[in-house]
Amino acid sequence: MATYVYRFADGDKDQKDLLGGKGANLAEMTRLGLPVPPGFTITTEACRAYLRDGAVPPELRVEVTLAVREIEDALGRRLGDFHDPLLVSVRSGARFSMPGMMETVLNIGLNDASVKGLAEFSGDERFAWDSYRRLVQMFGKTVLHIDGDRFADALDGKRAQVGAATDVDLSTQDLRELVETFKDIVRDETGRDFPQHPREQLDMAIEAVFDSWNTDRARLYRRRERIPHDLGTAVNVVSMVFGNLGPTSGTGVCFTRDPSTGEPGIYGDYLPNAQGEDVVAGIRNTLPLSELEVLDRPAYTDLVQAMRRLETHYRDLCDIEFTIERGKLWLLQTRVGKRTAAAAFRIATELVDEHLITMDEALSRCSGEQLTSLLFPQFDPHAETTLLTRGMAASPGAAVGPIAFDNAQAVAAAEAGTPAILVRKETNPDDLQGMIASAGVLTARGGKTSHAAVVARGMGRCAVVGADALRIDPVAGTVTVGKTVLHGGDTIAIDGSSGEVFVGDVPVTDSPVMVYVSRGLEAGLEAAGDDDEARGLVSAVHRVMEHADKVRRLRVRANADNAADATRARERGAQGVGLCRTEHQFLGDRRRLVEQLILAGDDAERRAALDALLPVQRQDFVELLEAMDGLPTTIRLIDPPLHEFLPDLTTLAVDVAVARERGEADPHDEKVLAAVEHMHEQNPMLGLRGVRLGLTLPGLFALQVRAIAEATVELRRAGRDPRPEIMVPLVGSVRELQIVRDEAEQVLREVGDAAGTTLDVPIGCMIELPRAALTAHRIAEEADFFSFGTNDLTQTTWGMSRDDVEGEFFAQYLDNGVLTISPFETLDADGVGSLVRAGVEGGRATKPAMHMGVCGEHGGDPESIHFFDEVGLDYVSCSPFRVPVARLEAGRAAAGASQDTV
Ligand code: PEP
Ligand code: MG
Repeated sequence: MATYVYRFADGDKDQKDLLGGKGANLAEMTRLGLPVPPGFTITTEACRAYLRDGAVPPELRVEVTLAVREIEDALGRRLGDFHDPLLVSVRSGARFSMPGMMETVLNIGLNDASVKGLAEFSGDERFAWDSYRRLVQMFGKTVLHIDGDRFADALDGKRAQVGAATDVDLSTQDLRELVETFKDIVRDETGRDFPQHPREQLDMAIEAVFDSWNTDRARLYRRRERIPHDLGTAVNVVSMVFGNLGPTSGTGVCFTRDPSTGEPGIYGDYLPNAQGEDVVAGIRNTLPLSELEVLDRPAYTDLVQAMRRLETHYRDLCDIEFTIERGKLWLLQTRVGKRTAAAAFRIATELVDEHLITMDEALSRCSGEQLTSLLFPQFDPHAETTLLTRGMAASPGAAVGPIAFDNAQAVAAAEAGTPAILVRKETNPDDLQGMIASAGVLTARGGKTSHAAVVARGMGRCAVVGADALRIDPVAGTVTVGKTVLHGGDTIAIDGSSGEVFVGDVPVTDSPVMVYVSRGLEAGLEAAGDDDEARGLVSAVHRVMEHADKVRRLRVRANADNAADATRARERGAQGVGLCRTEHQFLGDRRRLVEQLILAGDDAERRAALDALLPVQRQDFVELLEAMDGLPTTIRLIDPPLHEFLPDLTTLAVDVAVARERGEADPHDEKVLAAVEHMHEQNPMLGLRGVRLGLTLPGLFALQVRAIAEATVELRRAGRDPRPEIMVPLVGSVRELQIVRDEAEQVLREVGDAAGTTLDVPIGCMIELPRAALTAHRIAEEADFFSFGTNDLTQTTWGMSRDDVEGEFFAQYLDNGVLTISPFETLDADGVGSLVRAGVEGGRATKPAMHMGVCGEHGGDPESIHFFDEVGLDYVSCSPFRVPVARLEAGRAAAGASQDTV
């Protein structure tokens, strides 16, 4: 028989799967001998059984009875007693903290009889009736699902009737009457009386917790956070202690270090003569914890000792909920506390200095995502600002721009060169175009998982959502907050890291951590100036990064197309270029040269066009290889379809038709149109591109190889150490690579011979088609290295166009949970990842020491990097901006960190 109930003394912190986070930590505190009110946890297994069978397992009732009786005996009180009643709270507690689940119900066990017992025991009749009032209200709302406003309105009505400013000013008689009113509401809404039997209250509350696992809110949250639906929640039943028994009682929340800056010291809030919900509801202002030392020194000392004990035990920042009942301290909850990104780095290194954790552990507690948020630009902290309002910090960064109310205005602002802040009540997929065009997004509605928040984070756009003080009238073109009225085009500034919204311009600067990762420790410290907090943060990040570099197995390269990007990447620690997309070098003025190549009527014309391209290509590679001197530089031969370099078919067709109409036909335009029509493809992404293009258009790849070879010779002569690698895109068959390789080797030989040197340039290919991954053992025969192109591999594995995927169906797929995150952002380990694994295994079956990396977008994505480490790639290549993040995550992968941090 399964055991469905664990006494606190029977569990421990490692049983989160079974007892939930809250239950496991209550058990751990009990084991440590800390003052936790007696109680027990009903396991997640009981919840799963309940959800499966639609009924509470019969054993559970028996086990609950035994556990309740034990508490009664230990405390010498009885549930529902007329004189000295035991009361309990019922709280949900899943493996992961999950907003959207059932809230706590306090004071279970009170009824028309035991309320008198509570008055007797506490010597405070008003307190007893207030407790009963709270029970009926909380029970009615969370267990019986009665609209909470009905109770809140009745409470307001009572206050107004007797002229009470706050709840505290209500008399015993007022509260008695309120209990009757509340009970009437229950009868009215449910057709039955408020349950008087304490055990019935308890059983109903337990079932309500189980049911809350499957509310829409909870399901939505789990989909977003990728929490499995079948875990179930635990239920904690804890004997009540009271913080509202007069001036020697109170309740509070505290942290063993500052969770926003990481500074050592004790932080927290305290509210005398109150219950936990009063702190959360913010009805009264809390006192800083230090005041407790003055109010009640012995209780304060006990609390400080407990905090130290917990921090030592968990070896991390803990947050703690506590209650003081008539001078006696009780701990109601603890957990390893959430913290800001800055605090994560500082706390980790400080715990190392205190010899509480190792550097490996410190590394595993600081994530790439946290580092990313420290790299976003920030508002100049010294700037004068005018705060308009606050919302939720939904996507980090700082953005300034004119107000735009819709897509058209946002696009117009971007085209005018000043991207806007898109201001909407809420956003939906139709607003995507405006979001893309904007510098930031501000909404009046929606939470951190709203469409605006999710999409903005996905795009790296700064966003503040749910700023509910905003009154937005797109028709009138106004945004109003109180007396301030702003119009479309007025400048506002939003801080996606704090949720603040400012009127007017606020200057933006690089964050000190950004200065550090791009220009080193000295520069970072200098940027921090005399701000100790910022200096501490820069030093902490530096120490963690140094350790990551020391332990990581994966090397980190950058995707860089020119010397400027390559230099930037190198400054940020890139150990090579993993992808130079040479097609980017054919844009701008050079488009004309490509056009000549495409329009060439015969070999001679083609030759002339290629000859014209050679010197400019050579110069590109000289600059790139010089910037990456001494480091491997993978240059990919041209990839996209050539028509991308020609005018758009429709536009050109219209222009030519109009010209013909006027009798002014231009022979050149006619020729270009014929070429564009000839090359038009329905599905260019799956058409004549990559190696197919190289094999179809004689001389193009050879020209690029020649430019690479000549650039190498030139730099070597200048005493440099260029290390090019030639990469062939979109290979699907070994034969394709063989043909290109033969030609390339011949060119390298020719150029080498002419210069009196040997050019041993590695030649490899991208693995970005399923067929390439599946035949990697064959392709490896002709390849010196592989680089996985996970962008195309994702596109071709899912059969979803990477260009169109941000369209409507994709947002819907995220909403309905088919996808939890874009597979173009985080590698789909099960599907696309299997192909990567097959490619690695295939390649190494043929060449055991074959060098392999990845250069798709996933090379800079934290979660994907752990996967690439695990499958045994040698390096990841990502955009220069993400190089530091990739270094950190590669270090974390080596240090054995899971991807979860707090
Ligand atoms: C890829 O497909 O992953 C890749 C890096 O190539 P591109 O994005 O240029 O197609
Ligand atoms: Mg590709």
